[in-house]
This record gives sequence, structure tokens and C-alpha cells, in this order.
Amino acid sequence: MREIELDEPRDDEVLVRMSAVGICGTDLHNVKGEWQRPTPMVLGHEGAGVVEEVGSAVSTLRPGDRVVLSWAPSCGECPDCRRGRPAACVPLHRAIGAGTLVDGRTGMSLDGATVYRGTATGALAEHVVVTERVALPLGDDIPLEQAALLGCAALTGVGAVLFAARMRAGATVVVVGAGGVGQFVLQGARLVGARTVVCVEPAESRREQALRLGAAAAVSPEELKPTMRELLPDGADYTFDAVGEPETTLLALRWTRSGGTCVVVGLPAAGARLEIDPAEFNRREKWLTGTMYGSEDPAVALPLLLEHVRAGRLDLGPLVGPTFPLDRVGDAVEASLAGSPGRGVVLP
Ligand SMILES: [Zn+2]
Ligand SMILES: [Zn+2]
Repeated sequence: MREIELDEPRDDEVLVRMSAVGICGTDLHNVKGEWQRPTPMVLGHEGAGVVEEVGSAVSTLRPGDRVVLSWAPSCGECPDCRRGRPAACVPLHRAIGAGTLVDGRTGMSLDGATVYRGTATGALAEHVVVTERVALPLGDDIPLEQAALLGCAALTGVGAVLFAARMRAGATVVVVGAGGVGQFVLQGARLVGARTVVCVEPAESRREQALRLGAAAAVSPEELKPTMRELLPDGADYTFDAVGEPETTLLALRWTRSGGTCVVVGLPAAGARLEIDPAEFNRREKWLTGTMYGSEDPAVALPLLLEHVRAGRLDLGPLVGPTFPLDRVGDAVEASLAGSPGRGVVLP
């Protein structure tokens, strides 16, 4: 834990007092050194908090407003932003790789040297300064430690089902991985009325979560084959790889039925490659696709998720935990790496 300097909010920025920040797989890639990123870097991009100060041009927020952070402000001008896909924004991904905000600044320093931002955010801190566009209004009725999960895992996992797969009611589903994102893929499948959902996950505590979230079966990788033979012998209409490693993607693709769709949701380590038999695509006519941040503008998708939460169709509470104070962030990372049943959440 270090005390760093934060620049004052610019005209279009807000200062947010962070209340809860989830540990995401993306943070873990950075911790494990699987991606090349500049350091020192403040990680954390899945958070909720309370606005404390607003810049002079900010019109949608006032001090005291509770917000969920999005990590996709988008430049608004590149072809992807214009097509309504801010999470695919090229300048955004360049900034994420460089550890900065979209405009190339970080607004954070330590003893005069630049401190970089994880996923264009850097929220694992008591305060963060972000642009108005990524501080999305939350309202007053959802606990902030639950709301944090909306900022990445929920938008990503539910969005994979609703906006990337555009899944229909009655579909059959395989979900590979029941970590934070996988648990929201499971809930997305439940939301749209999937018929049979099979989850494969090595950690027993996460398999129990999967069953609570509507999976018909939640099995270890060794048990998958006999389970599929029994429940979905032809494979599933939709499969989701919530892990993103080559082996898990190939596992999901393998259990996709002919003509079905396999969606890669999780992110791989840098340099990962897939080796695929082309017969999967011609003879068996499978579709292999992927999604970034739920394939929808977070400012559009979040209000929809909030409606589902308020109507009791989307659970947040059971997915939170364990929680840690900021000075035990290392324990939060360890718990996440070990496969905690719920999302490790830091409460600054
Ligand atoms: Zn994330
Ligand atoms: Zn853009």
C-alpha cells in the first residue's frame, strides 16, 4: 500500500470514493505476469463508490451519487465506437496496453514518477478520478459491495448470453468455468430461459454455486464426458468459455453441437494460440465467436442489469465474498487465485 498523488478532476471528470472493488481475472493476469504492462500500476477496474467531486462540465452526476465504474469510456470517434461497440474501441485497447487513460494520461504519480492504470481505471484505491462517462449512476437501493460486480463480471457474463450469443429460450448450454464471469453466464442463461445447462468447473465450491444458479449439472472436467453423454449427447446449442485458455476454449468448442455457437468470454494469457480441426467449421458447421465486456455499451447494458437485479432475476449477494480491507488486497488476490466460491471483493 502506497500513498500516491491524484490529479484534480478535469472539467469532464469526477472524483469517486471507492467503496468496493472486485478482483477480476484480468487483474490476476497482471499479477501473474502473463501480460506485459508498465509498472507501477494501480490494478482494479470492477468497482462501485460514491462521487465526491465533479468537474465544471459534468452534468449527469453530483457529489453523493452512487456509481458503478465501467472500464470502457470509448473514444466516441473510431469505427467501433460509432458502431456502438465501445469495448472494441481501438484507442481504448491501446490505452489499456499502455496502462493509461484513452487520452494517454494517467493522472497518478508517486514521487514525481508516473503511476499506471490497470484496464484504464486503477480503482483498487481509496479514490479514483475518472471521466464522467464511465461513472454510471446506480441509484440508492443496491449495496455497493454487490454493485461492484456489475462493473465487469456481470456486464461481461450476462452480456455474453444476451448480446453476444443472443441466446433464445429453450436452448441447451455448456458453461466452462464458474468463477466470477462464469457465474454470470449461468445467470444469463437462466434469465433467457435456457433448458438444460451443464457447467464444468474444477473447484467444488464453485460447482455448488453453479447448481444454485440454475445449472442442471455441475461437474469436474473428468466427469464432463459421461455427464454430456447422459444429458446432452449431441452437444449444446451454445457453449461459453468463461476461462479463456486454449484448452478450455477447445473443450467448449468440442461440446458445441453441429451448427451450434461457441462463445469465448474469458481472456487468455498473451501469446496463446488455438489449434482447431477445420472440420469443426465445415463438416460440423459450428460457429466460434467471442465477446468483449458483454458486446454492448455498458451505459446501455447496466440499466438493463439493474432492472433484472431489482426484479429478483439476477442475484448479486450470493456471488460476493470473501471480502477484504484494502490493506489485505494481497489476500484477496490469493483467495481469487485459489478459486474462492464467490468474487473476492476489496472494501477500501
Ligand atoms: Zn474485469
Ligand atoms: Zn473508439
